[in-house]
Amino acid sequence: MVRVIDVPILQQFVARRGVQRVLAELTDAIEAAYMRWETFDKSPRQATHYDHGVIELMPVTDADRYACKLVNGHPGNPKQGRLTVAALGVLSDVDTGYPLLVTEMTLLTALRTAATSAMVARHCTRSDTHTLCLVGTGAQSEFQTLAMANERPVRQVHYYDIDPAAMEKYAHNMAGQNLKLVPCDSIAEAVSGSDLITVATAIKDRQSLITPAMLRPGLHINAVGGDCPGKTELDPSVLPHCDIIVEYEPQTRIEGEIQGSDHAVTEFHNIVCGKRSGRLSNDSITLFDSVGFAIEDHAALSWLYANLQQAPEVALIPDTDDPRNLFGLLQAAASSRAA
Ligand code: NAD
Repeated sequence: MVRVIDVPILQQFVARRGVQRVLAELTDAIEAAYMRWETFDKSPRQATHYDHGVIELMPVTDADRYACKLVNGHPGNPKQGRLTVAALGVLSDVDTGYPLLVTEMTLLTALRTAATSAMVARHCTRSDTHTLCLVGTGAQSEFQTLAMANERPVRQVHYYDIDPAAMEKYAHNMAGQNLKLVPCDSIAEAVSGSDLITVATAIKDRQSLITPAMLRPGLHINAVGGDCPGKTELDPSVLPHCDIIVEYEPQTRIEGEIQGSDHAVTEFHNIVCGKRSGRLSNDSITLFDSVGFAIEDHAALSWLYANLQQAPEVALIPDTDDPRNLFGLLQAAASSRAA
């Protein structure tokens, strides 16, 4: 039997536990996974590209559990009432090879992506980070805001989206969070006075949303939306000004802001394992070139499996007294129909 978690079950679980607590627990779980970086068998994800989007498989294993996520990125979807990013996840037992868990992973991806941003911010932002600039107030935006507020004393958010309806949705959802919400008319206005910039837009193009003129000493840029070949958010001339942190260099070289460049980068596990500090000086400009890596999904799926045990067990794998008599299951069904 395989535990199956659908969207309503996950919604109820997060509501009971509290979204801030879930984000904090996931941040710790993902950080713990990065601390044992060497124990994972890693590879860049397998991506199939279309003119209008991408479908990806993200496998990773350690000695006990194998995890795989099926995820898409279709920036045009919201215009047709669908999500840009939707996902399913599987966690399997390495000893038997059997799946243990099949789960919705759209909400879980938003939670784990925000938790990953917060994990990096924990090590790379200045402790006096008070003002968050958010560019793109789509599906990921509230998760990103709340996860950051767990890690740093964020008091105000400057936010901007090209779609006023997305900005209204964000303001509505974030009301009551004890954050001063400042709607802005442009990215330049939103960036001004910010300590931390999260960019989470969805356009399949090489964009120049953040330019060198917007940079200032001590800034941290959390670049979430540049995660595919031909899909970036920062002007390339920003990169030489930054200390660039990545998840897994072989994948980020293909998909991240650094695609097609030879800029030196640091993989995050070096920071969390104490091989170097997250912030080399108070004035450095740090850039987290986030693309989403399978270890984060492994950590999120393992955390969910450990913490959400009250879910239906479904017969997704045949259960038979004689494992070599798989055909007998069909014969048993045929004879019960005939009876
Ligand atoms: P979404 O479509 O729900 O939201 C994107 C928002 O960006 C929309 O509201 C859109 O109007 C806005 N936007 C587009 N161009 C803009 C611009 N020039 N200035 C300001 N706003 C602009 O998408 P989402 O689910 O929130 O995802 C955001 C991005 O994050 C996507 O590109 C997605 O692929 C990426 N993502 C990355 C990870 C990761 O691990 N790094 C995980 C999940 C999603």
